[in-house]
Amino acid sequence: MRKIVIAGNWKMFKTQAESQEFLKEFLPALEETPQEREVLLCVPFTDLSVLSMSLHGSLVQLGAQNVHWAENGAYTGEISAPMLTEIGVRYVIVGHSERRQFFGETDQTVNLRLKAAQNYGLTPILCVGETKQQRDAGETESLIISQLDKDLIDVDQTNLVIAYEPIWAIGTGDTCETTEANRVIGLIRSQLKNPDVPIQYGGSVKPNNIDEIMAQPEIDGVLVGGASLEPASFARIVNYQ
Ligand code: PGA
Repeated sequence: MRKIVIAGNWKMFKTQAESQEFLKEFLPALEETPQEREVLLCVPFTDLSVLSMSLHGSLVQLGAQNVHWAENGAYTGEISAPMLTEIGVRYVIVGHSERRQFFGETDQTVNLRLKAAQNYGLTPILCVGETKQQRDAGETESLIISQLDKDLIDVDQTNLVIAYEPIWAIGTGDTCETTEANRVIGLIRSQLKNPDVPIQYGGSVKPNNIDEIMAQPEIDGVLVGGASLEPASFARIVNYQ
């Protein structure tokens, strides 16, 4: 049975103090979730240490939003995998469209980051997805197959999560039709060596669409931006029926 992974992506939001305020309301609102449902918060680097302590003993795992491919070195502004694992980080988002769009992330650097994360025992969440322009031009399938081909070279598919995030659905309130997300996720699965890799949907996931999204047979979880910032909405998403 495939694991369900529900992840919050806080992006560049929340100071340490704000993260503690969030947890005060979020943790008590969590219902006892079935064992195969993994819940995680991917937070800014500066929140990781404090959250590592606050989440200790809870059901919630800790994730980062990026990782460098070297163990250490002259890479100003970067953070390595052993720096993350040392403080209890278990997951890391790699290749988010905002990194590809604003920070020069390429399929090649995504591939390097995925392998480095795995080498140190982190589980990477690889993000793939098309722009509106690519969708309108009928290029969704070819783009996604090309991203998977390049990003997954020599990547271990037994310690991996993939997130399908159509870029036009991120932060726009414009969710991809659930049946369409299910179709693309089925396509992603058909490209994998290991069909048990959990594949999430991401893009304007909210309390009012989570049940419909999770009812789709190919969708194994969600990567949630905006709605993960508010404790009651993220708890509602985690507690989906
Ligand atoms: P959103 O972001 O839920 O705010 O659309 C999703 C993401 O970027 O991971």
